[in-house]
Amino acid sequence: MLLPDDHRYDRARAAWNLAVDQRPAAIAYPADAGEAAEVVRAAAAAGLRIAPQATGHNAGPLGPLGEAVLVRTSGMIGTTVDPVARRARVRAGVRWLDVTEAAARHGLAARHGSSPTVGVLGYSLGGGLGWYARALGQQADAITAAELVTAGGELVRADAAHETGLLWALRGGGGNFGLVTALEFELFPAPEVYAGTLLWDVRHTEAVLRRWIDWAAGAPDEVTTTLRVLRLPDSLGGAWAGRSLVTVDGAVLGAAERAAKLLRPLRELAPAVDTFTAGPARTLVHRPAYPGGPVELAADSAVLGDLPPAAVDALLAVAGPGATAAVPLVELRQLGGALSRPDPARGPLSMMDGRFLLSAATILGGPPLAYERGPAACRRVVDAVAAYATGRPCLNFTTRAVDTRTAYPEGVWERLKVIRAAVDPDGLWLANHPI
Ligand SMILES: Cc1cc2nc3c(=O)[nH]c(=O)nc-3n(C[C@H](O)[C@H](O)[C@H](O)COP(=O)(O)OP(=O)(O)OC[C@H]3O[C@@H](n4cnc5c(N)ncnc54)[C@H](O)[C@@H]3O)c2cc1C
Repeated sequence: MLLPDDHRYDRARAAWNLAVDQRPAAIAYPADAGEAAEVVRAAAAAGLRIAPQATGHNAGPLGPLGEAVLVRTSGMIGTTVDPVARRARVRAGVRWLDVTEAAARHGLAARHGSSPTVGVLGYSLGGGLGWYARALGQQADAITAAELVTAGGELVRADAAHETGLLWALRGGGGNFGLVTALEFELFPAPEVYAGTLLWDVRHTEAVLRRWIDWAAGAPDEVTTTLRVLRLPDSLGGAWAGRSLVTVDGAVLGAAERAAKLLRPLRELAPAVDTFTAGPARTLVHRPAYPGGPVELAADSAVLGDLPPAAVDALLAVAGPGATAAVPLVELRQLGGALSRPDPARGPLSMMDGRFLLSAATILGGPPLAYERGPAACRRVVDAVAAYATGRPCLNFTTRAVDTRTAYPEGVWERLKVIRAAVDPDGLWLANHPI
C-alpha cells in the first residue's frame, strides 16, 4: 500500500480525469484476486472504506477519499474469449481496446463505447451505451458473470446459477456490491458495419440538427448515431485546427446498400466530408470522439424526453454558430430502440427512458473557456433544455454526485438498496454513484 508520504503517491493517485484531485488515505495496486482480498481485509480492519477504481474516467463524483483506500485495478489485466460460447472474460483493469481486439480475432464484437481507454468494468457496471446501443441495449445487460471480493474479504462468483440477486444488481448497479476482480459478458458475431462521420461547417447546425431529430425518430433499431457540435482547438494542427463543425457519426448494422439508403436524408444536406462506408466492426473503437489520454475534463449531461422546436431553439442559442463562450463539445446521442424495451429480470438498467442523451464537455484551461468557467459553461448547455429532461440521469455520463434514487425506475433503487445492505452492512464500498 502506498501512503501519502511515499514519493510514488502523487503519481499513483492521479485519475484519468486530472481535474479530480483525489487524496486517499492509502492506495493499493493488487495484482490478483488474492491480493485484492488481502487489501479488503486490511482496510476493513483499519476502519477505512474502499474505492475500487480502474482508470478514473468517472472519478468526479467520488468525493473526499481521506478515510478510504483507493484500490487501483490497472495491474489486473488480461482478456480471454470463448468463441464457442461467444463470451469474453476480463480482469478488473482491462480497457475496451483490449476486448475489441481479442474479440475480433474470433470474428466477434462487443458493446463497447466511444473511447478505447475507458475501463470495461466501470462502463459495464454503470450501464454502457455503445456503438450498437439501439440494436442490442446497454453493455450491463450483456454481463453473464462476475467474480468479486466481498466486504468480508471472501471471493465469490455471481452467475446464472449462483448469487443470482447479486448478478442482477451488478448489471447496472455500479461499484456498490464488492470489488469485482473479473467480469464475463456476451459477445456477438462481428457484423458488417456501415459506420463513419458526416461533417458540415457549424453554420449548418440548425438545418442538420432539425433534420437529424426528425430522421432519428423514424430510424430503425440497427441505427445508432450521435450528433456533435465541435469547436476544435488551434493546437490540433492540420486542416481542422480552429474550425467549428457539426457532425453526425455512428454505425448502421446490416448490408451497405440498405444502410446507405437509410442515411440518404442526412446526405441530402451535402456534408463537406462523408466517411460512412462498410468495414469491419473492429475499426470502430479507433474512431474515438474524445481524447484518449488523461485530461482535465468538465462535463454535464441530461437525458431528454424529446427535442421539440422550442428545445432546438434553446440548444442553438447555447451551442449553435452564434453562441458566445460555447463549450467545445456538445453531443446528442440517439436513444430508443432496444434501450427503451424494459426487461426488469435482466438488470436494473434494462430500460432507458428518453429519446436523446445530451452531454456538454470541455477540457479545462484550454480556449475558449477559462479554467473556472468550464463546469458552469457545461451546466448552462444542460440547463437550456432542462424543461425537456426526463429527470433520470444516465449515471455513466454523470460526472458529479447525484441522488441515485433518481437514476432507476420505481422500485429498482429500493431493490438495489436491499441487496447492498445484505452484502455490505457496514458500508465498506465507496462507489462513484452510491446506492
Ligand atoms: C472520454 C470518455 C468517453 C466515454 N464514452 C462512453 C461511452 O461511449 N458510453 C458510455 O456508456 N460511457 C462512456 N463514458 C463514461 C464511462 O463509461 C464512465 O466514466 C465509466 O464509469 C468509466 O469506467 P472506468 O472504469 O474507466 O472509470 P473509473 O472511474 O475507474 O470507475 C468508475 C466507477 O466504476 C466502479 N468500478 C470500477 N472498477 C470496479 C471494480 N473492479 N469493482 C467494483 N467497482 C468498480 C467504481 O464505483 C468506480 O468509481 C465515457 C467517459 C469518458 C471520460
